[in-house]
Amino acid sequence: MTQYIIQRLCIIGVGLIGGSLARALKKTGAVAEVIGVSRDVSHLERAKSLGVIDNYETEISKAVKGCDMVVLAVPLGAMQSVFEQIAPVISDDMVITDVGSAKASVVKSAQHAFKSIPANLVPGHPIAGTEKSGVEASFPELYENRRVIITPLETSSPLAISKVRNMWQACGAEVVETSIEHHDEVLAATSHLPHMLAYSLVDTLAKMDAKNEIFDFAAGGFRDFTRIASSDPDMWHDICISNKDALVKMIKIFSDDLQLLANAIECNDSVYLKETFSRAKKARDEFCEDKNINDSPE
Ligand code: NAP
Repeated sequence: MTQYIIQRLCIIGVGLIGGSLARALKKTGAVAEVIGVSRDVSHLERAKSLGVIDNYETEISKAVKGCDMVVLAVPLGAMQSVFEQIAPVISDDMVITDVGSAKASVVKSAQHAFKSIPANLVPGHPIAGTEKSGVEASFPELYENRRVIITPLETSSPLAISKVRNMWQACGAEVVETSIEHHDEVLAATSHLPHMLAYSLVDTLAKMDAKNEIFDFAAGGFRDFTRIASSDPDMWHDICISNKDALVKMIKIFSDDLQLLANAIECNDSVYLKETFSRAKKARDEFCEDKNINDSPE
């Protein structure tokens, strides 16, 4: 008999992240049944026809009934309302986790909805994704050799933590644990700030009079640097608002450094420029070596 690690999985929000999780768990035979739920029936029909989910419900309280694992894969702005719909039907043998890109805001939403946070809630965040959205963009290999950060609370049950760990490991991911504060600070620096830079750069250029000419001459470097500016604006709106403090702090640090760079260029400060570029090149080369990344320079 097949040993499933999850019997009945409910994915709330069957998009890129939730859909890829369902596909990965089905591919490895780790789950017996996947129930999808979202707002738009046509999206759920599509997910079912693609084999991502086995069945669907449009009411969250119905969908989660009898599930041993519930994953919230909705935008951060929708988390609280989803928790509120789960709260009346939660049971002791139901593990709840999420994939939100900021963690303090998810815990705050859970606090509002549940009043006292359930021991079976284990917040999580897969460090994997693309600039695409929706179930059509989902694929089972998304989490292979990628990290998933879980941020258990003091009250989280060890059994629930190990079930969430096992789920992600079954997708080929490495699971690491950090505090909520550390997660939000690190992600502000490594993911949220780069998205702000990409959006801001493309927007600045798009507003310029010579924008057609600029985009005509743009080459591989521009494409590499700005790919993430094609990400979903609504999702990134929610991430900015949800991780406001850490992100604004990083934007200020970066703005100060950018101003120093501008000053150095204006003053022909070759030493400053070469030192800055060399330090950055060394740091990126080490990062690529460490991660086994081999991207060809323009
Ligand atoms: P997505 O592809 O747009 O999927 C979001 C899904 O949520 C859609 O299927 C949408 O379906 C559903 N949804 C939206 N509002 C809902 C609501 N109020 N109730 C129920 N379902 C709702 O987005 P995603 O990229 O998978 O992102 C989902 C989460 O993953 C976000 O919290 C994000 O922060 C996090 N995350 C994203 C990435 C990334 O690179 N994209 C990486 C790591 C984590 P309907 O329109 O049918 O409702």
